[in-house]
Amino acid sequence: MLKDEIERIEEAGADLLHLDVMDGHFVPNLSFGLPVVEAVRRVTDLKLDTHLMISDPGEYIEAFKKAGSDSLTVHFELTTHGIDLDALIGQIQDAEIECGLAVNPETPVVALFPFAARCALLLVMSLVPGFGGQSFIPETTQKLRQLSQWLNEGEMSVPIQVDGGVTAENAASCVDAGASLLVAGSAVFGAADAGEAIRRMRP
Ligand code: ZN
Repeated sequence: MLKDEIERIEEAGADLLHLDVMDGHFVPNLSFGLPVVEAVRRVTDLKLDTHLMISDPGEYIEAFKKAGSDSLTVHFELTTHGIDLDALIGQIQDAEIECGLAVNPETPVVALFPFAARCALLLVMSLVPGFGGQSFIPETTQKLRQLSQWLNEGEMSVPIQVDGGVTAENAASCVDAGASLLVAGSAVFGAADAGEAIRRMRP
C-alpha cells in the first residue's frame, strides 16, 4: 500500500518526498503523474518535491500545484526541445510554487549559472534519467563541487540536490562536494530498516 509505505518512510525520518514524473517522451521511461501526487498528498504533510522529466512542464504547473506539489524541478535540457527556460521559470514562480532546475550528466553545471538566483534548488543528475540498470556516475562529485564553489563565491545559498544511484556508500562524498539534498530511491525504499538507511546517509 502506498499509504503504509509513505508512513514507513516518514517515520524513518525522510525530510521530503521526491517524486519522479516521466512522460515516456522527454525520457524513455513512463512513471506516475498527477493522480499519484494527489494520492501521496492525501497521506503525508512532508514536502513534495516533484521532478518533472516531461516535454511540456509549462502545461501542467497549475495541475501539479493543485495536486499538492510544493516544488517543481524542470530540466535545463528542455532548451534543446525549444522551450524558453526563462519564461518557464517565470511561470512556475508566478504560480507561487518553488522552482528547481536540473542538469543531466552530459550537461555541464555552468548551464545552471544564469538561472541559479531564481531557483529554490539545483539538481545534478548522477545518472541518465529514464533508463534502468545504472549506477552513480563518479564524475558527479566534481560537478557538485564546481557548482558549490560557484555558489559560495557568489554568496548564494541555493541547495544542491543529487539524484540517481545515491547510496550509503557515496552519500558522504556527495555531501562533502556540496550537496545538501540527497535523493535516495532504492537505498531507502528497498532497505529493511529505512530509518537506519537514512541515518547512514546523513552527514
Ligand atoms: Zn528525480
